[in-house]
Amino acid sequence: MLRNFTITRNLAKILLSSQKTCSGVTQRTVSLSALRFCEAKEEKEENPGEVTEIDEKRKLLDRTKVIPVETSIKYLNSSAYKETYGDSPVWEQYKRNHKGLLPPRHTRKTCVRKGFLATGNPCPVCRDEYLVLHHKNLDLLKQFISPQTGKVINYSKTGLCQKKHLELLVAVEQAMDAGLLTFDVPFRKYDYSEYYEKEDLEKIRN
Ligand SMILES: [Zn+2]
Repeated sequence: MLRNFTITRNLAKILLSSQKTCSGVTQRTVSLSALRFCEAKEEKEENPGEVTEIDEKRKLLDRTKVIPVETSIKYLNSSAYKETYGDSPVWEQYKRNHKGLLPPRHTRKTCVRKGFLATGNPCPVCRDEYLVLHHKNLDLLKQFISPQTGKVINYSKTGLCQKKHLELLVAVEQAMDAGLLTFDVPFRKYDYSEYYEKEDLEKIRN
């Protein structure tokens, strides 16, 4: 009788502890089914199945995860970024793969198809998932703007795919609209005689 009592008490203890650890069943009453549920879950966490090499490779190619801009901005200031790219722009070390002597006039339409990298030589922005083209990510956008002309560098030089190049153009335009990027307004010569009377023009000149 006493032995039976201790066994049931121990069982109750186990059940209570399992109830605490398993967050999904806190609302449920103490029962064996809850214990079984927790055991199954723990087993699954310990042995999530055999991870094959193919799965790991597929994980690297996955681009379905959306990286926020704040993370990308932090990444650009991190030591990991410095180690990878140094002080040069992200596109400088990239080399396009193409058959024949001369590269095709246009870069590929996109590097990512159905959420996965679909090429062995993705463009400099697609290959690094933490590079997010956004109007707030100024450190990245400035790398694609020529210091001589102040315009966005052509994809023939940077190697960006057509999709990312369009995203870049949109982001740069948005940054300029928001006043985050400075740019020179093109000089225009006006013929003031089209706007003023002759007498007024002489007054202005004098
Ligand atoms: Zn790309």
